[in-house]
Amino acid sequence: MSPKIGQHILVVEDEADIAELVRYHLERAGFGVRIALNGEDALRAVETQCPALIVLDLMLPDIEGTEVCRQIRRTPETAGLPILMLTARGEEMDRGVGFELGADDYMTKPFSPRELVLRVKAILRRSTRRHPDEEEQIRAGDLTVDVGAHRVSVQGTPIALTATEFDLLVFLMRSPGKVHTRDGLLDAVWGHDYIGYDRTVDTHVRRLRKKLGTAAEHIETVRGVGYRFRRDW
Ligand code: CA
Repeated sequence: MSPKIGQHILVVEDEADIAELVRYHLERAGFGVRIALNGEDALRAVETQCPALIVLDLMLPDIEGTEVCRQIRRTPETAGLPILMLTARGEEMDRGVGFELGADDYMTKPFSPRELVLRVKAILRRSTRRHPDEEEQIRAGDLTVDVGAHRVSVQGTPIALTATEFDLLVFLMRSPGKVHTRDGLLDAVWGHDYIGYDRTVDTHVRRLRKKLGTAAEHIETVRGVGYRFRRDW
């Protein structure tokens, strides 16, 4: 049973004040908003009616936000669901950890609600740039990407990628042999308005390679410049 795709944003946060603040700003920007106060409710809500995006706090009273994220990523129907992670851990947390956990973006508390709205819009713009009726299939060796269906497989085995990882892979595959700088990739995949961290691109490439397994070597590091997709190696 695949969930119905909704247009709303699901805010997962047990601190009611913060949840309401986020709701207020998102609604003012024109989004429909639902709130889940714990991890169980969040997973149930996603299963019932899949949101367009999830704002997910890491510190929840029952299941950890990281586990909620993992479960969403493990389920094929929701694997590409955009997730903006919130964390209070700040300094303790390496900046790349949010991405390692499968978030499309993340913010550290305390955050500016206006910036949160901007980031939500940026993530959604990236995911709506995809054309659902596009039937393009791109192949390289054992790697097959079905662009319209948002499916990736290596030697016939499906690989679950986040929305951002998928966009990055498709962008690289569409220009095989061309070297892309990190700045160029940030512009093309994340968008000009993305407020990125230095290691955003590297972290995503690392995750992507790990998931691609034997097909990882298609993505080549060009020292001091950036990355390039190779059809063969
Ligand atoms: Ca919390």
